[in-house]
Amino acid sequence: MKNLKTKILIVGGGPAGYPCAIRAGQLGMDVVLVDASGLGGTCLNRGCIPSKAYIHAAGRLEEITAHAKESAMGISCAEPKLDMAGLKSWKDQLVGKLTGGIGMLLKAAGVNVLHGHANFSDAKTCVVKLADGGTQQITAEHVVLATGSTETELPFLPFSDRVLSSTSALELETLPKSLAVVGAGYIGLELGIAFAKLGSKVTFVEALDTILPQYDAEMTRPIKRWLKTHKVDLHLSAKAKGVNKDGLVFTDKSGTEQTIAAEKILIAVGRKPNTTGFGLENMAIDMDGDFIAVDDQCRTAMRNVWAIGDVVGEPMLAHKGTAQGEMVAEIIAGKKRKFDPAAIAAVCFTEPEIVGVGLTPDEAKTAGEKVITGKFPLAALGKALAMQSGTDGGFVRVTARQSDHVILGIHAVGAHVAELSGEFALALEMGARLEDIAGTIHVHPTLSEGFAESALAALGHPIHIKA
Ligand code: FAD
Ligand code: NAD
Repeated sequence: MKNLKTKILIVGGGPAGYPCAIRAGQLGMDVVLVDASGLGGTCLNRGCIPSKAYIHAAGRLEEITAHAKESAMGISCAEPKLDMAGLKSWKDQLVGKLTGGIGMLLKAAGVNVLHGHANFSDAKTCVVKLADGGTQQITAEHVVLATGSTETELPFLPFSDRVLSSTSALELETLPKSLAVVGAGYIGLELGIAFAKLGSKVTFVEALDTILPQYDAEMTRPIKRWLKTHKVDLHLSAKAKGVNKDGLVFTDKSGTEQTIAAEKILIAVGRKPNTTGFGLENMAIDMDGDFIAVDDQCRTAMRNVWAIGDVVGEPMLAHKGTAQGEMVAEIIAGKKRKFDPAAIAAVCFTEPEIVGVGLTPDEAKTAGEKVITGKFPLAALGKALAMQSGTDGGFVRVTARQSDHVILGIHAVGAHVAELSGEFALALEMGARLEDIAGTIHVHPTLSEGFAESALAALGHPIHIKA
């Protein structure tokens, strides 16, 4: 077999691997990118983008249905119809457009892309089983592992036509009349709420006594309220046990066995890093639990082998992987970089949306900080009301150090608040104080005024609510 020699070999074309390849190409390095299941990885093909497309479509359907039931804002219309196969086909077109775009960007950066599965015999040598049937050996000076993660299967509820992973839930051609969702975390809630809006009868079974354990009770309350008012049942402290002909069998918090009628069951109980099946054991790399261990430059224990994205641990978010990928390319090119973000913002695209960056008040107190907080309800914001969204219980909350007013955390819940995450992350990254945010003129009318008002509230003198 002919050997291909390269400066950098990147394994995995997801949001961690492909930006690493593009940046390395921009820096003039010789790069090979190997990907087994489609450029864009989980995120573009079966994760972030397909789920957000479904969430958007479900919201659109819900709105039009509401106007058909009752005229509002002077708008009425006929009852809309859902063509699930049409929705899937629209999503597939969107994915095709974006993944095709990545192929073009990689080409423009001079990256040699191989479609296939890499298997390592030692840390710098692999054989790629190409999608077209051939094989290619590659040796590299630097190897970047960006192999990502996969959905977790429950042994007593193996995936099938009826028991769905997030991937298969996003491929359905018909809408299930009833859907039981195991796990009320990121994926369960995002997809479960979307399916409820599309018209499925959705029920959640969550092992913990709360939904979205990463966020505090004040933040999850508006989501719980939405579930209740939309007749979506939520069983907390409940354990899924199996499936029978009627549906999902589980034990409720009192230990009583129950069955939820469910045409389909979605399993959303977390994701596991892809660390097997590609010769990792031949690479002399240290592990950190289930993940590949890396330092603050994403170096593994093996010289010139790097790892980025979901495979190196939490948070398993696309933008974290992208930042690591871009950084590793620059370090290999000789630039001085390290991965040391002040905070990584996270958004859950539920109804309403939830955004968190930095510490919650409780986390800050546990870290030994004396804090002040400011909370501004979106119901007091003209733009929120004009978008019919202020009444969902949403707010912006800022947490700052009492002594110097440096902001330690920003959290928001409400329709459309995801778009505020960039300003929140910037405030933390720049070490902003409450006065910096309060003193920045925020455009009227926008939701971002809620951030400035929350800073004013923390300082004790908000304008649009009582001090
Ligand atoms: P991946 O995207 O998993 O890509 C890894 C790639 O490596 C894959 O293409 C795989 O085929 C390839 N690969 C693995 N092993 C080999 C091998 N041996 N040879 C060749 N190729 C290989 N994150 C967000 O930030 N925002 C969201 O809104 C969001 N929504 C999500 C919704 C869903 C339903 C899911 C499932 C995930 C979502 N995520 C979201 C998480 C996000 O998708 C991941 O954090 C992100 O994709 C991780 O990027 P990655 O590059 O590390 O890995
Ligand atoms: P998750 O960790 O967010 O939630 C899993 C939930 O399942 C938890 O609440 C957990 O208590 C529960 N659970 C675990 N085992 C259970 C069992 N046997 N029975 C009932 N409940 C059980 O995991 P996920 O929703 O699968 O998402 C995986 C990851 O994907 C996320 O952590 C996140 O990193 C990423 N993601 C991000 C976004 C986003 O950024 N908007 C969206 C989707 C996914």
